[in-house]
Amino acid sequence: MPEAFIYTSSPGRIVFGSGISVKVAEEVERLGCARALILSTPFQKNDAEALAKDLGEMAAGTFTEAAMHTPVAVTEAALKIYNETKADCVVALGGGSTIGLGKAIAWRNEAPQVVIATTYAGSEVTDILGQTEKGQKTTVRDPKIRPETVIYDADLTLGLPVAMSVASGLNAMAHAVEALYAPDANPVTSLMAVEGLRALKSALPRIVEAPDDRDARADALYGSWLCGTVLGAVAMSLHHKLCHTLGGGFDMPHAETHAILLPHTAAYNAAAASAELARATELFGGDLGGGLYDFARSIGAPLALADYGLKESDLARAADMAVQSPYKNPREITRDGILALLRRAHAGQRPI
Ligand code: NAD
Repeated sequence: MPEAFIYTSSPGRIVFGSGISVKVAEEVERLGCARALILSTPFQKNDAEALAKDLGEMAAGTFTEAAMHTPVAVTEAALKIYNETKADCVVALGGGSTIGLGKAIAWRNEAPQVVIATTYAGSEVTDILGQTEKGQKTTVRDPKIRPETVIYDADLTLGLPVAMSVASGLNAMAHAVEALYAPDANPVTSLMAVEGLRALKSALPRIVEAPDDRDARADALYGSWLCGTVLGAVAMSLHHKLCHTLGGGFDMPHAETHAILLPHTAAYNAAAASAELARATELFGGDLGGGLYDFARSIGAPLALADYGLKESDLARAADMAVQSPYKNPREITRDGILALLRRAHAGQRPI
């Protein structure tokens, strides 16, 4: 039996299924809205325009310039279109970058949000917004940032490239691993975390084998929903702080950095949180860090930070930055410990 805990369920409506995106109009109406501004990145422009066409009069317009790390200048440009087109809600179609733009708009003008999530990053179910201005990334948390409605339609993820699917899936798994040893973990988030890990562990190899396997895609989205939910519910530790340091300080790509670091951060904390991690450890053959590394390798995931432009000479500075502000973590964060972890992740070695 757990000792005392606090569990707050997050509000939000989840609409899950294959072919379900035809329900966007219904969901917009359900929020009391009639004119949606459709958001996407340039890469998903065609999908956004097709959705606008389907929505007919209910589409106020499209804004297809969403970019990584939610630059404030892009948000301001989108807000201008939102106002000019007299939109009354946003529909974000895409991954964390597009969802970030929708959240940034909603944080400023309280626009209701419908999100159609097409990666496994999990932003759609959190109240967290990271944005950048003049090279500085800041993070805000606010209930009005959390999207009201999330649509998960596996059909829209069939075209997510395999490499992106693998990295994004491991990004989701990292939320679950950290949720298990979170200082504010509770029985419900832990159940979700283990089930999220199980679903993604089963789905990702099947996606690598057959990217258009709808069942595998649905399992991955289901897992990403669970993992995203725990990201939004409990505090994250070493893994997320380290990824934030490498993303913000060294411009490392989001999903790939998560994918590479996960086996190493899990190994770093494994002994200090062995009870909390027991069910995840069992899932990965009795050695969480090593098991995650072998799993990542078997699905062709990125393994070495060096492959993404991080220089060996950057590692000491990254370790310095990572130990600057203290936070709760199962194992003490030491500069030497972090440097050793980073060295192995940089070289793509199996964690010890
Ligand atoms: P992304 O949104 O940047 O997407 C990467 C590329 O893949 C984009 O060009 C996108 O259009 C394309 N893409 C997405 N789905 C596709 C699909 N199904 N088919 C074809 N192409 C598709 O990547 P991401 O990893 O989802 O998001 C990363 C960003 O999200 C980062 O800025 C990160 O900080 C943020 N994020 C925020 C939170 C949060 O809670 N605030 C959580 C996770 C990630």
